[in-house]
Amino acid sequence: NLQDKLDRAFKVLKGQGSITEINVAETMKEIRKALLDADVNYKTAKTFTDDVKLKALGENVLTSISPGQLLTKIMNDELTSLMGGTVTDLETSKNPTVILIAGLNGAGKTTFSGKLANYLREKKGKKPLLVAGDVYRPAAVDQLQVLGEQVQVPVYVNRESTDPIAIAKEGVDEAKRNGHNVVIIDTAGRLAIDEALMKEITAVKDATQPHEILFVVDAMTGQDAVNTAKTFNDRLDFTGVVLTKLDGDTRGGAALSIKSVVNKPIKFIGTGEKMEALDVFYPDRMASRILGMGDVVSLVERAQQQFDERQAAELQKKIRKNKFDFNDFKTQIQQIKKMGNMKDLMGMIPGVGKAIKDVEIDDNAFKPIEAIIDSMTPFERENPDAIDTKRRMRIAKGSGTDVNEVNKLMKQFADMRKVMKQMSNPGMAAKMMRNMP
Ligand code: GDP
Ligand code: MG
Repeated sequence: NLQDKLDRAFKVLKGQGSITEINVAETMKEIRKALLDADVNYKTAKTFTDDVKLKALGENVLTSISPGQLLTKIMNDELTSLMGGTVTDLETSKNPTVILIAGLNGAGKTTFSGKLANYLREKKGKKPLLVAGDVYRPAAVDQLQVLGEQVQVPVYVNRESTDPIAIAKEGVDEAKRNGHNVVIIDTAGRLAIDEALMKEITAVKDATQPHEILFVVDAMTGQDAVNTAKTFNDRLDFTGVVLTKLDGDTRGGAALSIKSVVNKPIKFIGTGEKMEALDVFYPDRMASRILGMGDVVSLVERAQQQFDERQAAELQKKIRKNKFDFNDFKTQIQQIKKMGNMKDLMGMIPGVGKAIKDVEIDDNAFKPIEAIIDSMTPFERENPDAIDTKRRMRIAKGSGTDVNEVNKLMKQFADMRKVMKQMSNPGMAAKMMRNMP
């Protein structure tokens, strides 16, 4: 009804619940920069900011929380869903479940193998077996044996052999013989991707038929991590990603890029060298982490504030002087109507239409109000107090409405001015804000 429309006009006027195209575009540009700084690749950052922009504009009038918060929430949700939405569990139901570990040298495969064995034994009550499949460096076998001892998980080793495929198979047989329900096969990496490595790891895969193939990658390598992930996935079709070295303030942007480029779930993150430094990957937590990086949140708020302040300051001045008039009122109505057009536009985007279908912006509802304002003289528009009974009757006639409707509008306008005057008093405004939903 009309009261709702006026309420909404009032909210828009106060800069609440409105995110305009200008400030969203500006803000998104800044956010895109921040994401690129956080190692998110360009295409992902662009797609992300475009999506957020559409959603932000779509939610224009849906809510009365502050636009900065709204935008941050939209971004958080969008990031979370980009990274898979929810936790993707590790398959461990087979007997034995075979887990193959793959990745470049120094990515953290051996360390992760130890951590995973520890996690499955301690947290999941499993009985794992580690398999030392890195045959090229004797030190690699020693490293895994030390870790195995540390986490109290046996390690299958065959120092006579230099055939990683045979060793992996032997390891699985050994697990079956000794009642291990999980087999974790650590493998050799290379300094960079080469054909021999890809052939070897593919052969190990074919020979052991793993239920999980986890690709381990160093989060600190940024853009390289994404390219490596893509190459490994094309050859191995892995089942999940492990992001290592996310301790301290390593930026989490790689998580977003990898997920969007290879479309495989990130299952674990490594957060340190110790065997306990392993976390299940939670998309929502990583979203907060990425948003926290480069201070994106405060960036949004600052951009938002500057815009709102400029717009609000002008109106505040008028309101304080009690100069808010019918010209301003008409501008506000036009602004609301523009949102109506926006709604139609947004409605054509799949998924968005449904979200905003309950927001009613009915142009016709404003017709009588606009007609009444149009029938006022410029003097009357600027001096609402001067509109007496005689003038009201003339306005009613000119606008094709009746004097009751004019009176009603005059009353609502007066009420609105009164509330606005109160709101322009800082103490009062704060009090009213607190009472808002
Ligand atoms: P691999 O060659 O892929 O087997 O890599 P390693 O497991 O040997 O790890 C290489 C180096 O990275 C070692 O010094 C590890 O201690 C270190 N490392 C592995 N994971 C992490 C992690 O999550 N955080 C930190 N800070 N260091 C790690
Ligand atoms: Mg290793």
